[in-house]
Amino acid sequence: MIIAIKPGAPAAEVEAFSALLEKQGVRVNLSQGASQTVLGLVGDTSAIDAEALLAHHLVEKVIRVQEPYKRANRMFHPDDTWIDISGPDGAVRHLGGPYLGIMAGPCSVESRDQIVQVAQAVKKAGAGFLRGGAFKPRTSPYSFQGLGPAGLDLLLEAKKEAGIPVVTELMDIHHLELFGDVDIIQVGARNMQNFTLLKELGRSAKPILLKRGYACTITELLMAAEYILAGGNSRVILCERGIRSFDPYTRNILDLSAVPALKRQSHLPVIVDPSHATGLAWMVPAMAKAAVAAGADGLIIEVHNNPEAALCDGEQSITPGAFAALMGALRRLADIEGKTI
Ligand code: PEP
Ligand code: MN
Repeated sequence: MIIAIKPGAPAAEVEAFSALLEKQGVRVNLSQGASQTVLGLVGDTSAIDAEALLAHHLVEKVIRVQEPYKRANRMFHPDDTWIDISGPDGAVRHLGGPYLGIMAGPCSVESRDQIVQVAQAVKKAGAGFLRGGAFKPRTSPYSFQGLGPAGLDLLLEAKKEAGIPVVTELMDIHHLELFGDVDIIQVGARNMQNFTLLKELGRSAKPILLKRGYACTITELLMAAEYILAGGNSRVILCERGIRSFDPYTRNILDLSAVPALKRQSHLPVIVDPSHATGLAWMVPAMAKAAVAAGADGLIIEVHNNPEAALCDGEQSITPGAFAALMGALRRLADIEGKTI
């Protein structure tokens, strides 16, 4: 971090200011030019608030050289992180690095038959993980809110029956005790900046799937991941799921450039959700393939055995048949990318 000091600032005050900064654990190199004094801060500046510094009467300008996230930063962790998850069938699934992790299943758990059938179908097609929401964040309070704890029980039954690990959304930290047998905890787009939730999940031993908020920047997503990492939980998966735009043609705009950007900035696995990004089932296969070609480490795809009758997001859900066909294409793409599904 570089701090330009206002011209004419008294040297003694600059010295005192430098000493104050050093108390925050950084080294300060003072450069005195003919008309400008510059402070170079060396060390971990992640705890130093650039905006707060601007309020200081001596400070003219602050330039951040290093990103404000340290644990998520590839600079301090050059190798890809990947996550291993053992399934109820004894097989270990991997996500990140040389592995492509595929999560698939309905938007919401609706009934025992529905979730077990979809679980069996996506597992047969080669998915590594079953998705299914029990607690649903809906825009309208009158829409289906998910089956809650009963839905979670059905999801866990499907996990056992089909022999596939599960990923499901946690909206309220008070429900965490119900998530003991959940394999990956999802933090939805609407909760990406629920810092209380993120801090609590930092203390959890479970892998966390962190979805990008639909109006959040790449840096904000990485800072949200940093909350979980700073709490001691190193198993974070980032997810691009589309951001808001002016064009209603698709539900969101799939920001595929976020994939190489996140992978450049961070060592964490990055997956893509083409279902919520587009909102259109017919567009999902094209964008799923594009995501893998862009370097994604995985996908989360909505699959429903009867999309027309789905209680949530039927229009963006593909059928098990379409999913199986897509898996064939994804396997070929994974080969080209040097990844294993
Ligand atoms: C979901 O995956 O079920 C979901 C609600 O997604 P998002 O948080 O990205 O909207
Ligand atoms: Mn959905």
